[in-house]
Order: sequence, then C-alpha cells, then structure tokens
Amino acid sequence: MINWLGERVGVYGYGRTGKACVDYLRPQLISPVVLIDQASPEQQAALNTEAGGRFELAFGAAIGPAVERLDALILSPGVPLKNPHVQRAVERGIPVVSELEVAARNCPGYLLAVTGTNGKSTTTKILGHVLSALGPSHVLGNIGVPLLGSLAEIGEGDYVALEVSSYQLEAIERFAPHVAIYTNLTPDHLDRHGTIEEYARVKRQMAINMDESGFIVANALCGAFSRDSFENNKPTYLQYRSVPGGRLHGAWVANNMIHVDLGYERHELSLDCVKLPGIHNIENALAVIVTAFLMGATAETVAERLSGFTGYEHRLERCPQTLGNVRFFNDSKATNPEATITALKAMDPPLALILGGRDKMTDLAEMCAWIKRKVRHAVLIGEAAGRFAAALAAAGVDSVQLVDNLELAVPAAVEALAPDGGTVLLSPACASFDQYGSYEERGEHFKEVVAGLAGTTGGARAGG
Ligand code: ADP
Repeated sequence: MINWLGERVGVYGYGRTGKACVDYLRPQLISPVVLIDQASPEQQAALNTEAGGRFELAFGAAIGPAVERLDALILSPGVPLKNPHVQRAVERGIPVVSELEVAARNCPGYLLAVTGTNGKSTTTKILGHVLSALGPSHVLGNIGVPLLGSLAEIGEGDYVALEVSSYQLEAIERFAPHVAIYTNLTPDHLDRHGTIEEYARVKRQMAINMDESGFIVANALCGAFSRDSFENNKPTYLQYRSVPGGRLHGAWVANNMIHVDLGYERHELSLDCVKLPGIHNIENALAVIVTAFLMGATAETVAERLSGFTGYEHRLERCPQTLGNVRFFNDSKATNPEATITALKAMDPPLALILGGRDKMTDLAEMCAWIKRKVRHAVLIGEAAGRFAAALAAAGVDSVQLVDNLELAVPAAVEALAPDGGTVLLSPACASFDQYGSYEERGEHFKEVVAGLAGTTGGARAGG
C-alpha cells in the first residue's frame, strides 16, 4: 500500500480517472483530497456542489498555491507532465504519479498490460474474453474503466487485461505488469510526446521496470519494441508475427496454422479460430494467444474462446442491415490514417469510404495511396475535409465528394456504388470531436443513419 494517511494528496483532472482517484483516496486520508482542475466557471459551480466539503477544490489562480502545499500529486491521463504546475510539483520533489501507478501497487491480480498505437482495445478485450475461461477476469484501464476504481472487485490471482495508453505511462515510477504486450508503434500523439522516440520510450518504461518474473510480448514487425530496445534482459522476451518469416520464440503463422513455441511447450491452432476480419486482427489474436498460454491455458480453451469472439463495436463492425447489395461497416474507432489503412487492407472492393472529422494533421500520403488502390469513391466530412481533399487530389484520386455530415455522406456513398453494390465503410482517420462527443457517438450515429436509410427505403435485410 502507498501510505499517504497524514498527507495532502492532489488529484489533477476530474474526468473518469480523477473521480476514481478521489473516491479511492478519501477514506484513506486524514486531510481532504485536493482536486485541481482547469474547469470552466460552469464546471466549477457543478464541482463545488459535488464536492460538498468532501474534497477541496483548486481552480485557476488557486492551482499554483495549492501545488505548493501538496505532499503528492496524482495525474489524470489528460494532464501532461510538461504542464507547468505539474513541473513545479516535480521540482518540489514530491511523488508525481499516474492513477496507474497507485492502482497497480494495490492490485492483487495478474496485470496483463496492452499498449501500442493501434489495436490496444481489441487485444485487451479479446484477452479478457479468453482468460475468463481460466478464472475471474477483468477488462480495465484506458478501454473505459480505471483500474483504481475497480480494485475492490479484483481478487488474488484474478486476470486483469489492462489497456494502458502512453498518457498513463508518462508518469509511472515502478509500475511493472506481469506481462507487457506491445502491438505496434506509428506516429500519433506527437503534440503530447514531441517525438516518436519519446513516445516509444514512454511505452517501453513499464517493461524496463520488470524483473525476471515478467514477460514482454511484442509484435516482431515493430522495431521500436525489439528485444534490444528495452535495455533490460531480465524479463522473458517473446514475439509474434502474422506474415511469413520463420519460427519465433512466441507465435507465428504458417500454412494456415498458428504455431506457438514458448520454449517449455509448443502448440498449434487453426487460423480459422480468428473470426475478426483483417491481418491486423490476426496480430491482435497472436498477442492474446501467447499471453493466454503464458497464463496456463490449454490449446482447446484458447481455440474455443477465440472462435467465440466475433466482433467489437466501432472496429470494422458489420451493420446488420444491407441496402440492396450494399453492406455497411462501422470503423469509427479508426482515428488516425494507420487505422484507416488497416481497415482498407482488410476489406474487399468495391468500396465507398467515408472519412474526415477533426484533423490530427498527420501525414496522409500513404493512406491516399491505399485509397487510390482500393476505393471507388471517397466522401469527406468534418473539419479535415479540405486538407484531405487536397491530399487525395495530389494522390490522383478523382472520385471525391465533400458533404456536411453523415446523414448526407451515407446515401452519397451508397449511390456511388450503384448499380453493382459493394461496401460502405466509415473509417474516418480523424478524431470525432468536431461533430461528436466521442468516436462511439459518431459510430452510433452512423449505424442509426444506416438503419434509417435501410428502413425507410424498405431495403433492409437483417444479417444480409
Ligand atoms: P486502440 O485501442 O489502440 O485505439 P483499437 O483496438 O480500438 O485500438 O482499434 C482501433 C483501430 O485500429 C481499429 O479501427 C483498427 O482499424 C485498427 N487496428 C486494430 N488492431 C490493429 C493492429 N494490430 N494494427 C494496426 N491497426 C489496428
């Protein structure tokens, strides 16, 4: 346990994670928790009511003096280390850690941490699903529910499939999971981390903290997480690879079979166990398979559980309706060009692609080349539409249309596929915040528009 009984502990940021921190700390402290937030005046009023004397609040000009009096500071993922108040706390020499650090020190379960640029949530979700066959299992972390808020439900030896983001890993000290899974790394979140090297370094730290009891499970195609990159030879290093290339210490695919070699045991599974579309999902499944065998699963259990995982909302999710010979896929979670490229690789033409949203100003050249290769018609929405249109024109994609919103984009995409039909794919390559509160909201709206269109024209065929 971290013993902060007599101390003044600050929590910076009052989102989902900040709330979990406050709830966790309050019964353990004599002094009230100090909640720090850059809240708007309306939010401040709401927080004052919510606090009701149960915790102290520091907003605006009060933040600086409040930080001077703290003994420890816990950061929400949205608060960067480079924030000047946080920097001041670091300078003062008090512990400055993320919720993850506090939670992990008090977690009695096996922590199986999944990180990487893309595929974290899918891998975490499948992992929890597979491990639930072995014993109590929890799916927590960046995927939605903070670990700290769930500690009370986790028993000794439970499996905790934990999605961890680079934001959470930025402020760890000793956090070291039992297994650290690395899916991949491409440029993202550079506004926060500055360079891709720093982004990779932050992600590697949890494995650098490991001792001999730990395992690293890394995508063999990702140089940023090669064995040498960790500069720590204490944990066991395993790899997985979805494309041809020979044996590995870990898992690989050959002749439609998944092969696993952990050194002390070997397994073979049919590739048909992986029901999700695309080679990227084979990668996600391989990471899960290696980890499940490390946790003692049998080949039968792994095969049976994997086969039962057939879809995940907002990630190449097939809509139940069809409209004539047009089918629809919701990939709203694709918030960067790499994720959209991944979706394009997984889908068969003819394709009409809907993309755009809040522009992350990432390089579009490779995605545009994929669009040229696989997409019949692109429909652009949102703030990014102008820059995306220019990039597509530069790449020689001429069937492009700009519309205001998804209500207009879906019928436009359907029309572009007439008369033969094909697939309408929402895979935006952008954040959703220009028009929606979250990627989930955007995906739900897409599904509603599809359902409405299919319903009103009488073209719906469930499951089609
Ligand atoms: P994350 O939690 O890291 O954002 P998700 O599992 O939610 O990842 O998937 C987000 C998007 O990334 C999906 O829409 C999919 O297109 C793409 N994706 C999923 N897994 C992978 C992978 N292993 N490699 C590359 N892209 C992936």
